[in-house]
Amino acid sequence: QQAQQQKGSVVDNIKKMEQQREERRKNMQEMKREKAEREEQNQILGKNVDVEFEIMIDKTRLKGGLIQEHQTTQNIKLCVCVRKRPIFKKEEVGGEIDAISCANPMIRVHEPKLKVDGITKYVENHDFQFDNTFSEVEQGKDIYDVSLAPLMDLLVNQGVVTCFAYGQTGSGKTYTMKSIQELLATDLYKLISTTPSYKIFVSFFEIYGGKCYDLLNGKAPLQIMEDKNNNIQIQGLVEKPSESEHELFQLMELANSVRTTHATVANDTSSRSHSICQIAIRQGYSDIGKLILVDLAGSERAQDTQSNNRQRRLEGAEINKSLLALKECIRAMDSGQGHVPFRASKLTLVLRDSFTAKSNKSRIIMIACISPGSSSADHSLNTLRYADRLKDKSNQAKIQL
Ligand code: ADP
Ligand code: MG
Repeated sequence: QQAQQQKGSVVDNIKKMEQQREERRKNMQEMKREKAEREEQNQILGKNVDVEFEIMIDKTRLKGGLIQEHQTTQNIKLCVCVRKRPIFKKEEVGGEIDAISCANPMIRVHEPKLKVDGITKYVENHDFQFDNTFSEVEQGKDIYDVSLAPLMDLLVNQGVVTCFAYGQTGSGKTYTMKSIQELLATDLYKLISTTPSYKIFVSFFEIYGGKCYDLLNGKAPLQIMEDKNNNIQIQGLVEKPSESEHELFQLMELANSVRTTHATVANDTSSRSHSICQIAIRQGYSDIGKLILVDLAGSERAQDTQSNNRQRRLEGAEINKSLLALKECIRAMDSGQGHVPFRASKLTLVLRDSFTAKSNKSRIIMIACISPGSSSADHSLNTLRYADRLKDKSNQAKIQL
């Protein structure tokens, strides 16, 4: 009887193995068919991508429509959000796969990898969660409406609102900032329309290699000084009055163009400089509110410390220092910690008011911009990790308790 039982289980095992083999064969056939179909489709679309990676990524994409509900981030001191820009046709022609998927508030980086054998492909997925994530089909207005628009009242109530765009070069920082500038120009004049004594003033400068240059005054160099009351002053910075929405928009456009003209592909300083637009609302000599828009240097430049060009290396070190200092200052402000180490870099020095204004009057919005291309996965991960560390999670846990 025992022998018969053993024989039975051997037969069972053989059957099982055959079934498994059959299943594997089917899967392989299915894979082949899928691959062939994709290849054909991609050829029509002009995409030169690795279809195996593409299929693997598509299988693990976050689900959810491209347009999502977003929460209004009015009542938090620090709002961290992410914007994914669309992938460009020329990137797909060049072999890039869209390696980011969003389902607000989640975002996933699909990182294509090879096993140690050097041939077996696999995809490593990395998930993050933020206050809001915006997909490639969402517009600047979608970000503005839930992040900045709800803070307008603060700007006539002694508030200081600071909005940053962070990310690698080409990820959409300037694109995002420009649409925010345009929307703000309209809303600011609506905001002050009922109080004719409120006036708007603009200054716009950049920090490059640790030095300041005036973008509303032909890039004139500027000195940062601290007066005897410990106020940070930028000596000689031109501040232009603006009388209308149109004038404000034109001033911002002028500064944007001064920032990027004369830049060549090989020497585009705009990716190595931080630009800072300050808009003050005043009544006579008293400050009513302040808005600061910061288009940060390309985050990948912080790695230029390994460049074999000395100038680049120094610039990279300066950018690295300022982005780290910014993180520390934002963390300190978010956690309500007394000491904000704003002296650690020129960037944080000139932004001192953003971190030290009375905490219920100060708001920070960080927009982390990411490029979707698979070859940017590494940079995108760095950007998302930076953004993720801005929030003092331990503090949030305490509040929830
Ligand atoms: P960065 O300032 O981060 O270097 P840019 O803002 O200059 O990047 O964007 C790089 C390119 O991508 C530009 O040509 C820009 O017009 C385009 N771009 C960026 N974001 C978007 C978007 N959300 N939709 C369409 N095009 C975009
Ligand atoms: Mg830019």
